[in-house]
Amino acid sequence: MLDIVLGSHNAKKLVELRDLLAGSGICVSSLAEIPEAIEVEETGTSFVENARLKATEQARHLGRWVLAEDSGLSVDALGGRPGVYSARYSGPTATDAANNRKLLEELQGVPAEDRSAFYTCQLCLSDPDGEVRLEISGICRGQIATAEAGAHGFGYDPLFLIPEYHRTFGELGPMAKKALSHRSRAMRLLLPPLQRLASFH
Ligand code: IMP
Repeated sequence: MLDIVLGSHNAKKLVELRDLLAGSGICVSSLAEIPEAIEVEETGTSFVENARLKATEQARHLGRWVLAEDSGLSVDALGGRPGVYSARYSGPTATDAANNRKLLEELQGVPAEDRSAFYTCQLCLSDPDGEVRLEISGICRGQIATAEAGAHGFGYDPLFLIPEYHRTFGELGPMAKKALSHRSRAMRLLLPPLQRLASFH
């Protein structure tokens, strides 16, 4: 049986990741339960690079299997920003509220048809030697609303509109995210090879 550490300190992400792995038979623990875990610096310039860094450095340090995730929001009218800098969009002490405010300011006056955006989730599984064993990404397309709506989720969810539902992820809540989000799409793709790998260990 494979015992995997989820390589993220983001409590809201962890809730979603754990929920997506529930019932898979994969045993997961999180960094919060491991005092000797390190804080890996996200020095990469792409989701792929950052997910690899978080998985392989933590795995080598702990000598354990680590599943890491790097994610973010890419807004077409902003040339793909904030992208890998989504968490730190409004500066080094960024909060979700400040990031959302900045996004609304930057998109002021941009019409609905030009407010398209997508979330990316890049997953990377490293073995205890720091070798990448699985890599997969998922995306979720939407639009940036003109005002925040809803209190579910985290990050940009109150602004991330699912056009088919005319509601933001903040309004739609966890069921909709589980069905549609970048994280759930990536995890659905990862699960079959992950379970195959687990059956050999
Ligand atoms: P990182 O992967 O720790 O670099 O941070 C990802 C950042 O992207 C988060 O802090 C959020 O700002 C944003 N983000 C990623 N996934 C989501 C999501 O599911 N909902 C809302 N914001 C997200």
